[in-house]
Amino acid sequence: MDLNTLLLLLRDRDNLRQLPLDKVLSFITRASVLKRDIMQPQPSSVSIDMAPIYLPPSVSQFLGDSLDMPPDCVHDCWAVFKDVIWDHPASNEAKRVETDAFRVHGKKCGLSESLISCAPAVASYTSIPPAERTIYPDQCCCINPVCARATKGLPLKKEQQRPAVIFTAADGAFPAWSIHLYCIGK
Ligand SMILES: [Zn+2]
Repeated sequence: MDLNTLLLLLRDRDNLRQLPLDKVLSFITRASVLKRDIMQPQPSSVSIDMAPIYLPPSVSQFLGDSLDMPPDCVHDCWAVFKDVIWDHPASNEAKRVETDAFRVHGKKCGLSESLISCAPAVASYTSIPPAERTIYPDQCCCINPVCARATKGLPLKKEQQRPAVIFTAADGAFPAWSIHLYCIGK
């Protein structure tokens, strides 16, 4: 989306024109991380290649709470930025793009990425800890080549959630939910 298009979209939305830019950027980043959570509750008929019109209530609430935005502002923000969010790279892809930019252009300018090292947070849980990560499979659609739903490109909507633990070299262990998607086959 170019800035001219964005200005046209913002023309009739007084509540968004007052938003600080950092809040808008956070909205785009957070929503783009939640693309799979946004898609999963949508009807099968909604294409996975386009941003859906409506956000699931849990995602709307999270964005509103975490960014201190009223519901109508979340709704309008999604309406204006949903296509930007859908094209926004996932966080690991965005990291690779930034690393490549420094690798190709940084050296001749004497610049490299700054890394800030900090001690991992120590948490003690007396009950089931909240999940900090959600793991979705790579595929959105059935991988059986003779499945009628796969041929039609219908996304998988049936799911099972299992508690999991992710072990990372950088930050230690994280509680997680592992999402298992399965095909109803018709
Ligand atoms: Zn199938």
